[in-house]
This record gives sequence, C-alpha cells and structure tokens, in this order.
Amino acid sequence: MIVDVHTHTPTHRDAVPPSERRAYDRWRPDRAVVTTNSWADYDEQLAAADVSIVFNIALPDPLGGTGIPTDPARINESTAEFAAADPARRIGFLSVDPTAPGSIEEAERCRVELGLRGVKLGPNYQRFDPLGPAACELYRWAERHGLPILFHQGTSPIRDAPLRYAHPLTMDEIALAFPQLRIVMAHMGHPWQRDTIAVIRKHPHVYADVSALPYRAWSFWECMRLASEWGATHKLLLGSDFPIATTAETIAALRDVNAIVEGTALPRVPEEEIEAIIHRDALAALGLERPAPGEASDARGDASPPAGGPGDATEETR
Ligand SMILES: [Zn+2]
Repeated sequence: MIVDVHTHTPTHRDAVPPSERRAYDRWRPDRAVVTTNSWADYDEQLAAADVSIVFNIALPDPLGGTGIPTDPARINESTAEFAAADPARRIGFLSVDPTAPGSIEEAERCRVELGLRGVKLGPNYQRFDPLGPAACELYRWAERHGLPILFHQGTSPIRDAPLRYAHPLTMDEIALAFPQLRIVMAHMGHPWQRDTIAVIRKHPHVYADVSALPYRAWSFWECMRLASEWGATHKLLLGSDFPIATTAETIAALRDVNAIVEGTALPRVPEEEIEAIIHRDALAALGLERPAPGEASDARGDASPPAGGPGDATEETR
C-alpha cells in the first residue's frame, strides 16, 4: 500500500474556470506550480497513491499568503466533503488557529461531526507560538483523542512567516511534553533536515515526511544519506505536497536520489531503505484506520476504530 501523507485540499470541486486559475513560482526552484485545481486534478496527480491524507491550513486571508486560494469560512468543510466523497482513499485532517476563541470546540466539531481524523498546523503561516499555552491545549486534546498532527516545518518563501515558529527543535519540546501524540514533521524541516533527524530518531511517535525535498538534488541526497547513517529512515513517510508535486513524481525522485553521486566514491542511499519509505504503512504509524470501501462517510462520534458498514459485519466479528 502506498500512502501519501501530505496533500492540500483541491480548491475547486469542478474544473477551474480560466479566470480563477492561479500559479505560484516560488514553491519550487524548477517551475511554477498551479495552485488551483479540481477534484479530478487531485485524483489524476495522486493516482500512484492508494490512500492520501488531505488538509487545508486555517488562515484568515483567502490567499493565505501561500498562493493556494482557500475560503476561510470553509477550511474544514471543504476538506471533509472531499474526503467523504472517496472515504476508502482519502483521510481528511482539520485545521484551526489554536489562539482563536473556541478553537478546541471547532476541532471537536470537526472530529465528531465532520469525521476529520488528524490535524494540520503551520505555526509560521498561522503566526502562533507552537510552544504557547493555546497550542499546548490543542496538543493535549489531539493526544487524548488519538489524532496525529502534521506540522509545516522549516523555511518557506513567505516573508511574513516567522522561521522560529517552524524550527524542528521545537518539535522535540512538544514530543517531550506529549509523548503519546503522533507528529509528522513536514519536509524533514528543510533546510534543517539534520535537526529533524535528531528529533525523529529519539521520539517513538515522531515522523517526518519527504515532501518538497526532491527538487534540490544535493540536499535531498544529503539528508537521505544522513537519515540512513543515523538509522532514521524508518521514521520517514511518503508525501507529495500536492499540488506542489505529484505522488508519482515523488516516488520517482526517491528512486533517483543516488543519481547525483553516480560515478563518484560518495556513498549511496540504500535502495531497500528507499523502497521501505515508499511502501511504509503510514496509517499504522499514525494510529489511523484505513476506512473500508463503502463505509458511511458521516460522523463517527469518537476516536474508537471506525464502525464498518453493514457489509462489514462478518469481518468485524470474525
Ligand atoms: Zn504542504
């Protein structure tokens, strides 16, 4: 099974009208990224994944400073609708600003009523202190209900996004305080991948995704080598950061990571460790159940394993 743990909710249900098409040229050094996309675009670009985790980031500004248009009033609804449309293949995560009044209530509503099963946060984009009391209250809630949190980590081209809120060593503090919380550190905290490796290797429930790394060939090879030397590649998860890249493109780049050292005496990233990342059961790592095909997509009510549909009764009781 191939799980893509890092994708952004498509901006449009149907085909994007030309007048609403947006592109952003600072996400990748090699090309601009079209940041508006339909549900069909998502399926096409995620075709290589069996299951994906999908989310928005709760930002007050409709463009969010990120070039990905999002309706601030429908941050979680749009993700929930999209996930519910194909519940066997998509797992939706909620997003809230922990410092906003009622954020825990909103998170609880998303969990119980919308069936969202994890949390996405970008403390630098959202401009909240990831070690502040409001954030810690959200972590406590997520830990109690078994919801993993995927954090944006590392740099970004957005100027108005404080880097200290996205530094990987912050995650060490959070994991020390919330040892049962499942955490994914996005982008291996680039360009602080070695700090990320130091964190994921010591905390049993802290992982990192490899999204957004492959377009920088040298630092990609270097961080994968470092992760291998430090015995941490088993904590790395596949992620594309759709619409920044496709799942297939990310898998191909992983398999090509050693191309840059071909013909040199520099060591290779072991192929078997690369394949293990591609095929890792990220859902099990994050404590997420893969929903059965045909499962009802409405509210589940609590963090207990999702109830099967009528057709699953024998499976359940076996
Ligand atoms: Zn992302």
